[in-house]
Amino acid sequence: MPEPIRKIIIAGGGTAGWITAAALRAGLAKEVDILLIESEDIATIGVGEATIPTIRVFNEHVGIDELSFIRATEATFKLGIEFVGWGQDGNRYFHPFGDYGGTYEGIAAHQIWRRLNLAGDETPLEAYSIGTQLAYAGRFFPPNPDPRSPMHDYSYAFHFDAGLYARFLRQVCEQRGVRRINARIADVNLRAEDGYIDSLTLDDGRTEAADLFIDCTGFRALLLGEALGVPFIDWSGFLPVDRAWAVPTQKPASPHLTPFTRSTAREAGWQWRIPLQHRTGNGHVFASAYTSDQDALDTLMQNLDAAPLKDPMLLRFKTGHRKVFWEKNCVAVGLSTGFLEPLESTSINFIQNSAIRLLELFPAKDFDPYLRDEYNLRNQASYDYVRDFIIAHYCLNDKPGALWRDCAHMSLPDDLQWKLELYKRRGEVLVRKFDHFHEPSWISIYHGHGLRAAAYDPLADRIPLEALSETMRKRREQIAQVIAKLPRHEDFIRQHCASEAFAIA
Ligand code: FAD
Repeated sequence: MPEPIRKIIIAGGGTAGWITAAALRAGLAKEVDILLIESEDIATIGVGEATIPTIRVFNEHVGIDELSFIRATEATFKLGIEFVGWGQDGNRYFHPFGDYGGTYEGIAAHQIWRRLNLAGDETPLEAYSIGTQLAYAGRFFPPNPDPRSPMHDYSYAFHFDAGLYARFLRQVCEQRGVRRINARIADVNLRAEDGYIDSLTLDDGRTEAADLFIDCTGFRALLLGEALGVPFIDWSGFLPVDRAWAVPTQKPASPHLTPFTRSTAREAGWQWRIPLQHRTGNGHVFASAYTSDQDALDTLMQNLDAAPLKDPMLLRFKTGHRKVFWEKNCVAVGLSTGFLEPLESTSINFIQNSAIRLLELFPAKDFDPYLRDEYNLRNQASYDYVRDFIIAHYCLNDKPGALWRDCAHMSLPDDLQWKLELYKRRGEVLVRKFDHFHEPSWISIYHGHGLRAAAYDPLADRIPLEALSETMRKRREQIAQVIAKLPRHEDFIRQHCASEAFAIA
């Protein structure tokens, strides 16, 4: 047996650093020493408010009580994303966390829908998504884990203050024995014989050595990028947005707290709106090749629904990733691995997946190259599939404006082209292993952007049209009945998990 890892240093204390610390502390033996080094003089990125449902699995893995977490992070519930003006001007659709009614005698709901639709039934597909209907009704209640329940077919994530989430996790980690040093990492010292990281020199003169180093230093990628020289693969040819203005606003005058993120397409990008308990997060993500910083800022400020709480902040980024995610005795997690723009809120999910994946393939001191390569392959697959999912939002459009026209004519990755062809021909939805998104998510984007399958699954012909029609009518009725009984989102929060600020308001 190779010697086990005894000491880990996590460099960086943003969301990535503390998520990784929490995951490793929960997963590894108590004897493994975990030290996190962060510099309070180097700010964290300061944005990152929306998530996808796997965050619940992560929180559970770490042993976090959901309601305490919601109160501590000013969180609200997220049933999905409303897309406004995407695909075509005037278009509006919803990407729900949940399906369109499961299968009926082995046939997918969207295939049944297409058969009825081609026969003249004009009921929208969204009518069969309980997640979408709940969101549009402004209501929320946790789903029922029993698959026979009509309340089963949806899921939820959170909107929260990422800074407060990091603080919350820090508390959890320190209670569980993670040590923390507040200092700037001045030097990364490599071993002469093999180029592995030996230690970090801090600006207070201390030197800290470890067996395994986790790079959570954000876009700087101080360890993996700067010290080990792992190059960055630039994907801005696929995803041209590269800047964002972000500004928090007061809660709008209307008490209606939407249980979803809104993403509104703009001329050279898109605008987010994320409601939290104490404020609303807003931002305009844009491509600097297609608009100026000032015009992008004006677009954001003219489209807010309440007064700003701070001056807007400009963030610059490049879409892409480091060529490998684990090199020698260093694993990168978070923005140090790269970034795909925030359209589908995938960054925190990447962090949580990376941390859990590292535990699954956790090395010993020999740093077995098979474990390392497998880790890199899985992370690469996730990056590729999520990139393609986001590209689909851009390339499927029929909108005016230079950015949108260029995206509609861009050359696509082969795997995405393949997926689109399968859907166009027969509504077939291909989901690869290590993708972050399931079948209904892909359907919602294809469908929302106006793609319609030329044909449906012929197995749907097995069942008489009237029987399918009746089944689907009952589903709609059931959804309407269930939703009418559920509380409004803000009432659910008030009753179960109001933060101090929300309770006072
Ligand atoms: P950072 O927050 O940059 O943290 C880096 C840490 O490293 C800090 O603690 C810093 O002090 C430390 N550090 C750096 N250098 C040194 C040094 N020399 N010595 C000591 N310490 C050092 N994600 C989502 O999931 N959902 C979203 O809705 C979302 N929206 C986003 C919107 C925008 C515009 C952008 C740009 C990102 C968004 N993200 C979102 C991504 C999200 O913000 C990040 O994934 C997340 O915050 C993790 O950041 P990080 O911890 O990797 O890096």
